[in-house]
Amino acid sequence: MILDFKLLNETVERVIESTEEFKTEGNVATYIPELANVDENNFGLAIVTVDGKTILKGDTELRFSMQSISKVISLIMALEDNGADYVFERIGCECSPYAFNHVNTITTKAANPFVNAGAISTTAMIKGRDKEEKFQRFMDRIKKLSGDQGVTFLEKVYNSEMETTDTNRALFYILRSKGIFDLEMDDVLNRYVAGCSVGVNVVNLAKIAAVLANGGKCLETGDQLVEEDYVKITLAQMFTSGMYEESGKYQMTIGFPLKSGVSGGIMGVVPGKFGICTYSPRLDATGNSLRGIKVLEGLSKELGLSLFA
Ligand code: GLN
Repeated sequence: MILDFKLLNETVERVIESTEEFKTEGNVATYIPELANVDENNFGLAIVTVDGKTILKGDTELRFSMQSISKVISLIMALEDNGADYVFERIGCECSPYAFNHVNTITTKAANPFVNAGAISTTAMIKGRDKEEKFQRFMDRIKKLSGDQGVTFLEKVYNSEMETTDTNRALFYILRSKGIFDLEMDDVLNRYVAGCSVGVNVVNLAKIAAVLANGGKCLETGDQLVEEDYVKITLAQMFTSGMYEESGKYQMTIGFPLKSGVSGGIMGVVPGKFGICTYSPRLDATGNSLRGIKVLEGLSKELGLSLFA
């Protein structure tokens, strides 16, 4: 037994209830207009244990765009397609004190794979004959890792971000001018935004997280879906940079690898135990889901989930 399942379920219920007071705190992201088009008070949580059990609470069917959580998949694919040396010669591996889309996240290269500049770089490293094939491979990878179940492309979110994404266009040109890649805007930038626009629910993301918690192995068949070395790299980066410039702060109170997105999802990996995903679109000033953090903090405290506990 990995964790007492009954205890886990009861604790999840209690912790969610105790965060009710944060339901109306924080604000949804509006800089991508379509992201404001949601029920602000929605909350959903899914846990998938490495032995295949599932806990579902709240709005677990609701589809939202992956946003920055998609950066985990781009990193995995950049590693698989090029190897770790190639990737980290062109992207840093340290947390940045600047916001995820700040121009200062680039020096000679992007600070890490989870700031926008880093994810634009990993997106450029995904291989394929043309941009369509590269994106198809990306979608297929998400479907394979998440058990598919309705993973879809949210065109409205994509169009909305493409209309407003000049900051990311600027980051693209700076990176290209530094020689990180030599590709066209409509290949790299459009695929980066398209990756952020992949529609998932909390169950899909908890399943991806559970594969990572399981050392990269499929929960059902035991097949190695992600090489173990790449799982370790991905989890290390989620730990150090997954919550943007506040990653260190949340590692003190939560203490396991996390990755958040501005649509309100937070994906977490408790190695050897379970994958978790919370969804609540109201964000704090850094762009992390406010209630999601409260729930993860509560669970970590009550169940001793910090890797340093
Ligand atoms: N698509 C968003 C952007 O590029 C993703 C950012 C995020 O989730 N932090 O700005």
